[in-house]
Amino acid sequence: MLEITPEQIKSIRSHGEQDYPHECCGLLIGTFDADGRKVSHEIYPISNAREEEAKRNRFLIRPEELLRGERYASSKGLDVIGFYHSHPDHPAVPSGYDLDHAWPTYSYIIVSVRDGRAADVLSWEMETDRSRFNPELLVQLSPELAGV
Ligand SMILES: [Zn+2]
Repeated sequence: MLEITPEQIKSIRSHGEQDYPHECCGLLIGTFDADGRKVSHEIYPISNAREEEAKRNRFLIRPEELLRGERYASSKGLDVIGFYHSHPDHPAVPSGYDLDHAWPTYSYIIVSVRDGRAADVLSWEMETDRSRFNPELLVQLSPELAGV
């Protein structure tokens, strides 16, 4: 289960629209709670810091980009708890490519962007044996309730 604020969802949607027809990507920064619940405190966009050439690549966060995000998160006492990316003109469902490049435990938010407009936003979590993604419950809380 992933808790996130409507403001973060809005930012993910507009990032997807900005980078259309390319895929956007970024990190989710927050906390892993003891009961397996994750709380996202903020999003950390990655693809819009990239060179034009790199934007044409498929969703893949490079190790140095992840490291930078992890440093940022730990400077705030938080963790990287997941990733988000867009599917231009495709459903918000993980591809085989996504499965090959994912890790268990993290949340994977996908926003479908159709004709330049953000549509569905879904969250996914990998099965522990890495065989597939399962839908993850995405709970939208106001910042006050999330304690962010
Ligand atoms: Zn994907």
